[in-house]
Amino acid sequence: MPQLGFGVFQVPDDEAESAVTAALAAGYRSIDTAQAYGNEEGVGRALASSGLPREDLFITTKLWNSASTAWTRDAVLREFDASLARLGLDRLDLYLIHWPRPMRDDYLTVLRAFAEIPRERLRAFGVSNFTPAHLRRLKDETGIVPALNQIELHPYFQQTETRAADEELGVVTEAWSPLGQGKGLLDDPVIASVAGKHGVTPAQAVLRWHLQLGNVVIPKSVTPSRIRENLDVFGFELDGDDMTAFAGLDRDGRVGPHPDEFDAG
Ligand code: NAD
Repeated sequence: MPQLGFGVFQVPDDEAESAVTAALAAGYRSIDTAQAYGNEEGVGRALASSGLPREDLFITTKLWNSASTAWTRDAVLREFDASLARLGLDRLDLYLIHWPRPMRDDYLTVLRAFAEIPRERLRAFGVSNFTPAHLRRLKDETGIVPALNQIELHPYFQQTETRAADEELGVVTEAWSPLGQGKGLLDDPVIASVAGKHGVTPAQAVLRWHLQLGNVVIPKSVTPSRIRENLDVFGFELDGDDMTAFAGLDRDGRVGPHPDEFDAG
C-alpha cells in the first residue's frame, strides 16, 4: 500500500467527494474512510468519476462498533457487503475493525469473519486502536495476525510500546491523526525549527518524521493547497539531529479515547 494516503474523518458526505477528487488529482492513491464517517458514498462517487484504474487505487474502510451487544459472524459479513455497496466497489483493499471494545469481547469473532472473506473481494484485513495485549490475545487464540494496526500516533504521542509490538508480530503500523489534528502540535517551536532548517512547513516536517520511522500516514485536509502540501514530502530528508529533536517531543498527548475504554455504538 502507499505509505502516504488521504483520510476523510469528519468530512461530510457531500464534501468528501470534492476532497477525495482534489486528493486524487494531487496524486494520492490511498484513501482511508470508515462506515462511521458516513461518507463512503461520497468517497465512492469521487473514485468513480476519477477515471483512474481500480488497480491503481488502495481503498480502506472500517467496521464500526455494533449498536447491539456484540458482533456476530453473519452481521459482520453483511456489513462488509454494505460498505462495498456504498463505495460502489466490488473489491476492497483493506478492511479494519474500528475499535477493539474489549468490554464486548467480540473482536475475535470479527477477525475470524474477516478472515473468511475471499481474497478477490478483500485484499487484506487489519485492526485499529489495538493495544499490544489485544494483538497478542488475537494471535494466541485465533492464530490471526492482522496486516496492519491503525493507531493514534504523532510526535506528542509516539506509541513506542505499540509500535514495537506491531514490529515484533509483523504488523504494519499506520498513524491516525498523524498531524495531531493540527492544533497545538503544528505550532511547536521545535517542529518549526526543524521545518525552517529544511525550508518546509511544520506539517511536512511531521509527515516526513513519520515516513522515516516507517509509519504509514493518512493526513486529512479539505483545503486543496494543504492536500498538495501534505503529499510533497519526498524531496527532503530529516537527519539524525532532527529525529532526536522529534523523539524529545513525546508526551502523554493522546487526543482520542483509550482503546480499553471506548465503546460507542
Ligand atoms: P490529522 O492529524 O490528519 O489532522 C487534520 C487537521 O490538521 C486538519 O483538519 C487541519 O485542521 C490540519 N491540517 C492538515 N494539513 C495541514 C497543513 N498542511 N497545515 C496546517 N494544518 C493542516 O487528523 P485526523 O483527521 O484526525 O486524522 C487523519 C485520518 O486518520 C482521519 O481522516 C481518518 O481517516 C483517520 N482516523 C482514524 C481514527 C481511528 O480510530 N481509526 C481516528 C481518527 C482519525
